[in-house]
Amino acid sequence: MKKVVKFGGSSLANATQFQKVGEIIKSDVSRYFVVPSAPGKRYDGDTKVTDMLYSCYRTAEKGGDFGGQLEAIQERYNEIIRGLSLSLSLDGEFKEIEKNFQAKAGKDYAASRGEYLNGKVMAAYLGYDFVDAAEVVRFYPDGSLDGETTNQLLKERLQDAPPSVIPGFYGAEEDGTVRTFSRGGSDITGSLVARAILADMYENWTDVSGFLVADPRIVKNPETIETITYRELRELAYMGATVLHEDAIFPVRKEGIPINIRNTNRPQDAGTLIVESTCRKPRYTITGIAGKKGFCSINIEKSMMNSEIGFGRRVLQVFEDQGISFEHMPSGIDTMTIYVHQDEFEDKEQQVIAGIHRLVQPDFVELESDLALIAVVGRGMRSTRGTAGRIFSALAHASVNVKMIDQGSSELNIIIGVANRDFEAAVKAIYSIFVETQI
Ligand code: ASP
Repeated sequence: MKKVVKFGGSSLANATQFQKVGEIIKSDVSRYFVVPSAPGKRYDGDTKVTDMLYSCYRTAEKGGDFGGQLEAIQERYNEIIRGLSLSLSLDGEFKEIEKNFQAKAGKDYAASRGEYLNGKVMAAYLGYDFVDAAEVVRFYPDGSLDGETTNQLLKERLQDAPPSVIPGFYGAEEDGTVRTFSRGGSDITGSLVARAILADMYENWTDVSGFLVADPRIVKNPETIETITYRELRELAYMGATVLHEDAIFPVRKEGIPINIRNTNRPQDAGTLIVESTCRKPRYTITGIAGKKGFCSINIEKSMMNSEIGFGRRVLQVFEDQGISFEHMPSGIDTMTIYVHQDEFEDKEQQVIAGIHRLVQPDFVELESDLALIAVVGRGMRSTRGTAGRIFSALAHASVNVKMIDQGSSELNIIIGVANRDFEAAVKAIYSIFVETQI
């Protein structure tokens, strides 16, 4: 049995956190490949090493004196090294980084050093091998991941490797130019390693005990989701539930490898298990609730719209021409409504209205702004009657006016549109009816 374990920045922010991580790894021999992030915040208001590197490099790029900033970064590592009583020195590494910053090696290179150096410290601490991600994670020159070459390189390198540390977040182009993923991208590295070695489990250790059924800023002490499918997670993540980088599920999903979200500060908690499919019955009809504010709806009305072939296509053409992606499109007999992100739409609203008039000659077009969308997600909904009814009655009791309801054909989610000001009340009401007073 082999597991890939990824630790986030807050799990590696200082020596005490490193020790917790060490104990977690040593307590299970199958925790074989370790993917660390760069040291994160030690306390509220602290700066992540990645952000320190970005700002240090900005100074270097402008030709400024970045010596002090680089020293502060080295001190973050030295503090960890001292705290762990290691005899490691990163002086040579920092000399090289300084030289490369002077030579303007690029901001991706700069940011990647956070994980690179933390990988060195971690390998020394655990007595594991160090594998430079630049040699095994391959990017195309346009900055996107070359997943198949990466898979091949990782397979070859790790097949018979002893326990190793592979730093997260970066890789390199074929010519060695270092590239990074978007922020939080160490999650993707962990997933790539898990896929390549066909791991039994990808453990992603962070500072929360998994995904919560609802946003804790809205619902007090929400329950943790025990098991969630990749598809459910996609729906929730899209609507704003963030714990894992969005792209991290794709590599493991290809091989059906489960992901376990765990809490470094509470290793006794089981966390959330993310799986392809499961016959484990969800505890509640719904798995989770997530939502976002800041949408706008464009309501188009035209009598006999339903018999006009190509009407919908022409309307969507207008949005495509303006480079606006749409979120939802509920329709009635003579009406069609398009939900879009308000900030993407505002500057272009008049062009869109003019375009719609030109292409489909509607009776009228009406705009409504400051709307929120809430996704109620759950594989349990397919086999349960009355889910939509319960949502409606909960919202009616909470005096929330429902503007739109849209059930995905997968029967995995119901999307509800409400006014921004009703967003919190709506989430609370839905949580309450499905979780607190579950029938
Ligand atoms: N250190 C990087 C960041 O702060 C990547 C990561 O932590 O996954 O975004």
